[in-house]
Amino acid sequence: MTAVETYEVYAIRYATLARKASDNFIGGDPHEAGSALDYYVWLARSSSHLFVIDTGFDAQVAERRGRKMLLSPELGLKRLGVEAAAVRDVIITHLHYDHIGNFAMFPKATFHLQDKEMQYATGRHMTQTLFSHAYEVEEVTAMVRRVYEGRVKFHDGEAQLAPGLSLHHIGGHTMGIQSVRVHTRIGWIVLASDATHLYANMEQVRPFPIVHDVGAMVEGYRRLRELADDPRFVVPGHDPLVMQRYAAAGPGLEGVAVRLDAEPRP
Ligand SMILES: [Zn+2]
Repeated sequence: MTAVETYEVYAIRYATLARKASDNFIGGDPHEAGSALDYYVWLARSSSHLFVIDTGFDAQVAERRGRKMLLSPELGLKRLGVEAAAVRDVIITHLHYDHIGNFAMFPKATFHLQDKEMQYATGRHMTQTLFSHAYEVEEVTAMVRRVYEGRVKFHDGEAQLAPGLSLHHIGGHTMGIQSVRVHTRIGWIVLASDATHLYANMEQVRPFPIVHDVGAMVEGYRRLRELADDPRFVVPGHDPLVMQRYAAAGPGLEGVAVRLDAEPRP
């Protein structure tokens, strides 16, 4: 049996958006104060494996959708010593625009995706704007092209990609969203991506309003906690608190990247 590997894990914050708290919770009170969303890509590396998790949106889409880009995910990775052009494995948690832009930056990569996410993004639900508005048809089409190039590895449910790193289909937010469980020096942590956008969605069981299946989303909150060694080790997909709870990944990386394989501050 192969020994479990231990990973260094990073969140790179590449964009931000100021908005109302009521935009972030089903049934939210429109009088609540502001609640920003941050946009991240993640990196997990051991002595023998390296995975990039999601690829972020590009500057063009950011401008069209009114998001404030802070730096390109490519540059963020470079500042952690990773050349995007050399990356072999990219995990796509789901196909929403803020998770799958910048394809061209990863010419050598295989993209890991759940069967159900491709089914969802190309199927009947996309005839409704309610479900399609967070997808970019050109990006979904680009992923279909990667399928025909043999560069997409499909997964159905759970999959171990390397000792100490596995994928877990969660669903809810989209039909095929998956989260990533990673073994680190503090134990098993979970990169939830948008299975929970904010800590509060999961902790208070107040779902985020962009949702395919509310029941699956709420069940997912329970599953995320179960997968992590400690509920505090579940890392939400868009919470600005991530940048406060974890220390900068190194000198000069304050506000850019944090190290997630460390005890979060309370
Ligand atoms: Zn997202």
